[in-house]
Amino acid sequence: MDYIIKTEKITKKYDDFTAVNKINLKIPKNDIYAILGPNGAGKTTLISMLCTIIHPTSGTAKVNGHDIIKEANQVRASIGIVFQSRALDDMLTGREHLEMHAALYGVPKNIRKKRIEEVLELIALGEKADEYVKTYSGGMKRRLEIGRGLIHHPKVLFLDEPTLGLDPQTRESIWKYIKQLNKEEKVTVLLTTHYMEEADKLCDHVAIMNQGQIIKADTPTKLKRELKADTIKVKTEKPKEFTEKITELPGVKEAYNTGNTIKLMVERGENLIPAIVNFATQHNFQIKSVELEHPTLEDVFIKYTGTKITET
Ligand code: ATP
Repeated sequence: MDYIIKTEKITKKYDDFTAVNKINLKIPKNDIYAILGPNGAGKTTLISMLCTIIHPTSGTAKVNGHDIIKEANQVRASIGIVFQSRALDDMLTGREHLEMHAALYGVPKNIRKKRIEEVLELIALGEKADEYVKTYSGGMKRRLEIGRGLIHHPKVLFLDEPTLGLDPQTRESIWKYIKQLNKEEKVTVLLTTHYMEEADKLCDHVAIMNQGQIIKADTPTKLKRELKADTIKVKTEKPKEFTEKITELPGVKEAYNTGNTIKLMVERGENLIPAIVNFATQHNFQIKSVELEHPTLEDVFIKYTGTKITET
């Protein structure tokens, strides 16, 4: 496989604290690739190093064939960056933002106009292009930021939490644009997210990150399939006691108490539900509800880290 990003034991320390710990990561060309992890996992630090914004403490990486330390300028010229800090000017129009960025990135003057039209079409802002950004919705602003990151035909587009703070509907529409630009512009997209659904529905590959390390990386389907586990969610009055007791039932591989709900990892959920209900009755637990679910990325995350990603 052709990899557009390869890291070699890349590490970032802040004094004694290791934010990114000897990560080896390979990102295939033309992929939409997610680094999925909770707040503070080190996602932003990792991609900031790949974008040459911060310097690794040790280790290195190649982006588009260039070393991020020795060839930082070549790396910068071949990437687009859309980071969490908003940097749009309310008193400029969408088109003016794109014009400024095209000039800044040295897009040749004779093709600038055409390129701006192309990008405006891609992010569906053609009709709003000449209006002030202050009149844009949250989703439009995000699309403009993404469009701006694309203007100079980067080979890799870095998106730090691209849908943070957007409502679910706008989030899905942003996914649609990201998929489209990945295909039409042939740009590899590396994004960070703490939204399970985003990693699952949008991305070709997902690397699960926690406490500075990549715990597991694969396609969402493989990550979920590898668990060989369905989840049965049980609600009962004494969750703690039930969680301890239910592991005695053959077929229940693991049990987690996640607040109100107990999650049971089992191999074939359909077959086990009657046994769970009988077991509960025998041991005087009153069951409020039982729900069967096939694995999600959240289950994968819990399996490998023992904790939950808290969605904010
Ligand atoms: P978030 O989604 O909250 O940004 P993240 O996974 O992107 O989370 P990072 O921002 O990479 O996490 O931060 C990883 C860890 O490194 C955090 O514990 C953070 O407090 C710490 N950290 C980040 N930047 C610095 C810095 N300049 N100095 C000291 N510690 C830092």
